[in-house]
Amino acid sequence: MFGLLKKIFGTSQTRLLKKYAKIVQEVNRIELGLQNLSDDQVRNKTFEFRQRLSQGEPLDQILPEAFAVVKNACRRLCGTQIHVSGYDQQWDMIPYDVQILGGIAMHYGAIAEMQTGEGKTLTASLPLYLNALTSQPVHLVTVNDYLAQRDCEWIGEIFRWLGLTVSSLTSSSPHHQRKRIYAADIVYGTSSEFGFDYLRDNSMAQSKEDQCQRGHYYAIIDEVDSILIDEARTPLIISGPSGVSRQMYDELKDDIANLVLHQRNLCNRLATDARKVLEKYDRFSEISQERKLTKEEDLEEKEAYRKLWLVAKGTPQNKILKRIRENPNLRANIEKWDIYFYSDPHKEERQKTLAELFIIVDEKANEFELTDKGIHSWIEETKRTATTDDFVMLDLGDEYAKIDQDPDLSEQDKLQRKVSVREEDARRKERTHNLRQMLRAHLMMEKDVDYIIAEEKIVIIDENTGRPQPGRRFSDGLHQAIEAKEGVAIQAETQTYATITLQNYFRMYKKLAGMTGTAMTEANEFKEIYKIDVLAIPTHRANQRKDTDDEIYMTEREKYNAILRDIQQIHDKGRPILIGTESVEVSEKLSRILKQGKLEHTVLNAKNHAKEAEIIADAGKMAAITVATNMAGRGTDIKLKPGVADLGGLHVIGTTRHQSRRIDRQLRGRCARQGDPGTSKFYVSFEDSLMRLFASPRITGFLQRFRPPEGEAISAKVLNKSIETAQKRVEQRNYTIRKHTLEYDDVMNKQREEIYSFRNEVLHSEQTLPLAREILENLLCQMCHKYFVNKSLEGGWNPVGFRQWLVAHFPLSFNAEEFDDDYLTFDDIENLSMEKVLTAFDSKLSHEAGVIAQVQERMPNIPNRLPPEAILHEIIRSLLIRNIDKLWQEHLLHIDHLRTEVHLRSVGQKDPLLEFKHEAFGLFDSLSLRIKQEIAHALFKFEMVVPELPQEPELRPMQRRKPLIDLSALPELDIPK
Ligand code: ADP
Ligand code: MG
Repeated sequence: MFGLLKKIFGTSQTRLLKKYAKIVQEVNRIELGLQNLSDDQVRNKTFEFRQRLSQGEPLDQILPEAFAVVKNACRRLCGTQIHVSGYDQQWDMIPYDVQILGGIAMHYGAIAEMQTGEGKTLTASLPLYLNALTSQPVHLVTVNDYLAQRDCEWIGEIFRWLGLTVSSLTSSSPHHQRKRIYAADIVYGTSSEFGFDYLRDNSMAQSKEDQCQRGHYYAIIDEVDSILIDEARTPLIISGPSGVSRQMYDELKDDIANLVLHQRNLCNRLATDARKVLEKYDRFSEISQERKLTKEEDLEEKEAYRKLWLVAKGTPQNKILKRIRENPNLRANIEKWDIYFYSDPHKEERQKTLAELFIIVDEKANEFELTDKGIHSWIEETKRTATTDDFVMLDLGDEYAKIDQDPDLSEQDKLQRKVSVREEDARRKERTHNLRQMLRAHLMMEKDVDYIIAEEKIVIIDENTGRPQPGRRFSDGLHQAIEAKEGVAIQAETQTYATITLQNYFRMYKKLAGMTGTAMTEANEFKEIYKIDVLAIPTHRANQRKDTDDEIYMTEREKYNAILRDIQQIHDKGRPILIGTESVEVSEKLSRILKQGKLEHTVLNAKNHAKEAEIIADAGKMAAITVATNMAGRGTDIKLKPGVADLGGLHVIGTTRHQSRRIDRQLRGRCARQGDPGTSKFYVSFEDSLMRLFASPRITGFLQRFRPPEGEAISAKVLNKSIETAQKRVEQRNYTIRKHTLEYDDVMNKQREEIYSFRNEVLHSEQTLPLAREILENLLCQMCHKYFVNKSLEGGWNPVGFRQWLVAHFPLSFNAEEFDDDYLTFDDIENLSMEKVLTAFDSKLSHEAGVIAQVQERMPNIPNRLPPEAILHEIIRSLLIRNIDKLWQEHLLHIDHLRTEVHLRSVGQKDPLLEFKHEAFGLFDSLSLRIKQEIAHALFKFEMVVPELPQEPELRPMQRRKPLIDLSALPELDIPK
């Protein structure tokens, strides 16, 4: 069945390639004709195409000619000097046919899979030019700032020559220039700059002039897998200082550290005990395995393995345990307990055993759980400091009912009590949340693997690339929790102002395309989530790379020794070597090993992109040894220096198989570009996290039988297969996580779209007064529906309640019977209330307009003064924006909490996502009501104040009680609340 699918898949790919190949011929034919034209005639094509488009000719129809023009422009550029990244470079590129092919695929919104060194950068110029002819925003997304700038200078030459504008957007582009940057026909920039600008435009811009993007038409994402897959797990977040700080990390940190220490000591004790027993029975030497034990001895031994099993559940990284597991026999004996405990009849026994721990750690699922013992210990520990039990939450409904039933309380008191109950509830939730995050920091986050400490700060390390990500923070308080754990200064609590996942950002483009050397393994995901197909483009020259079988070792120690041997051998021949590592930690370890072996080498801990590119480019020199984390230098290709090809080209070494096959391919693809020779080889050990966590238990049995002598590789076809299975398992798991993030963000996405579009309406509308009136009407209509449902229904008609609500929210008075009249229909009541409120609002406005006019009279020298009405529009605009932003930010905070909360509920067998959707919907509902209410309040509350103009301004300028309205600084004007 799989074979059949593959065939269909295969043929649809070939069919498409054939179809596009015809277009390539056409492009080449047209280009031939262009060669007879003058430069100006070719340049003029841009103008001609734009005209044809404006007359309705479809873009697809122009493709062959437009591509031909780009190709021809390249031809004409040949020999010219171009200044790129500080050096003069001679232009020598005319797109190959396969590049034109890739360009066509990308115009049609596919991901072009083209190997490293095939020239994707140039390929992109073809569809970029074509799509920019529409004058709509066209963006090329690069991996880093350095490449954005380089490609804009380098490839940008084509566009400039053809009369289009091109710009680069980097993290150092000043904000006031960004509008100009986006105005260009084609913009090169990184995904986070594009994403953050979108968020800023929609959550911070105070006027339409402040917004810099002009929409999202066509984007090509370079190294698309790294952006849409590797980076997709952490959303972009704009945050700022939070209004109220309830951060309790400092208060919790010592107690948490103690609890974790208890657990560590317990597990160490268990492991030491177990080791002693195993030593007693000589289990570590290979020879005496067969000694018969008495019944008691046998029990004692079994108990030792049980303890080790428990240690694996409590502290999976325990050193003693790790040592013991190196021996396949002992490892198998521990695993026997796993099989035993996870069979159904032993479930209870398992629970009882696990209850000996304080915390159960599930390394695979990246989760943990406090046991009853852990909870008790926590309560004991914190008795001195905590006044309440951290694990008992308030039942708000219950508490409210109690307050309501208390006859001794006045209405006012009741309200007060409820507010404090609610505050207490929020405090407890926050504390529990902090507590969990602190535990997570201790149990699941490892220094130098998940983060590093640099300059007294916690810096995230990207798990796929080992690249430090300064400036990014773990969300939801985890970052602060790690800061507390490591004893560095805890940054002020921040609040999310705006957030979006890269996935959802890129889904806004009308057309999306991508390019990379490695997309095929993730083709399904691209299809399912982004609706993009992957098309594998043939290489310009046949690939000469030789991939050797993996070498698999029992332990890391043996693995590194083998790697060192390999390096030495290849190095002696003078061939350059590139060694890929999965983390900073490993690259440092390897560097130490190389130093001991007196091998000169360069280590790349990606930080400075420009230097990084240089180092990577030098990696093709004779006898060079380069150690790099995987992603380092992506986007820069390694060209072989003279003579190297004759020796056999670049040799690539992988120090482990990665969590996804794609990353392996990426590393392999670093050598043998454009028909060069090259070789690659991966080294794997059973202590690698991939094998430790995801290899099937069958493997242990296999190893028991086939454990080779120390230092020798295990060679068996079956292992290659099981490594791939393990990788597929992880790929699947990671895909689920990404999908999960997206599913949650999807809920938010709808809400975000709604709020942002409302906000944009406010920013862009010429007149804001009608909008304000509309909001008032809308609010009244909604409340009428709430208070007046049905006359004949008990409690279904509530004029008193409605009147009370009106009085509470508007500065108006009403007669007692205002709405309490049997003859009044629903519509009457609605009209009546609207009329009253709107009339009051109008008179409020004319009053304020009067004040403004008065102020203006007193300050006759202000230039460009606006009429009072226009000033009111601006004031209302800023008032609406502020309220939307404030409440939306609060909403985001609630949603953050909800997200953690629903996961606690999954224990109760409820689907957390469903719960989340349901409650998020409810929260959004109340958000929209609150926005209307708060805006209504604000509309009646703002006040213009006539300044008491001093006779001699210099003498007493500071004696104003209320803020003075400075008419010259209007948009930033501070409205008295
Ligand atoms: P990729 O992104 O596919 O790995 P690049 O775009 O970085 O590859 O290009 C790799 C190298 O190939 C560059 O040095 C570039 O100058 C060269 N190159 C690309 N296309 C051509 C071409 N049509 N003719 C000559 N050289 C080319
Ligand atoms: Mg590239």
